[in-house]
Amino acid sequence: MSESIKVETCPQCGAPAARSANKCAYCEAEFIVTSIASLDGFDKTAINRYISHYKDRLKGEPDNSEINLAMGICYLDLGLYDLAAKFFSKAIEVVPDRADGYYYHALAAIKGRKPKLLTFPEVKKVEEYLNAAIQIDGSKATYYYLWLIIKHEFYVKNGLKINPPTVEDLIAQGSCRNYDKQEIAKMISRVPVTDEELLSVITR
Ligand SMILES: [Zn+2]
Repeated sequence: MSESIKVETCPQCGAPAARSANKCAYCEAEFIVTSIASLDGFDKTAINRYISHYKDRLKGEPDNSEINLAMGICYLDLGLYDLAAKFFSKAIEVVPDRADGYYYHALAAIKGRKPKLLTFPEVKKVEEYLNAAIQIDGSKATYYYLWLIIKHEFYVKNGLKINPPTVEDLIAQGSCRNYDKQEIAKMISRVPVTDEELLSVITR
């Protein structure tokens, strides 16, 4: 599998780029986006430029996990959750230890709905993805906080019994992991949460 980055022109500004570059030397756009936070400030047109660039790339290398993840992230940011999920599935099928692939899969599976309204099988799936992400990479507060949202907004609000990890466990775990303010803000923009107390824990 080729993981080399073969960009010849920037998908955002069209400037020429070295084959080995990850970022445009002119407009500073990343070539392969790795997070929804990195799309902050990008409008629909800019995201669609990435999508058409990745579509081209995937024709030649359909099994490139990074590009499948990047494509999923673009669709997720546009709110096209089912499409996004397809690309996250592919990204983790090719590279099963890609933690962000599971995290974004979980986020896509919520489909922008209030967690309270998910079905039990949907919640189990979201939790399975988040558990996988944390097993692979336990360093990110984002994973714990998305799980905390699910525990609080689905289990607590529906009056259901909570198996470990509990709300308290997840708050404690999340509080001592790497905190990415921009990613957390983007994550919350995809999951409607109105509980002020919960939000104050997550947004610190
Ligand atoms: Zn550029």
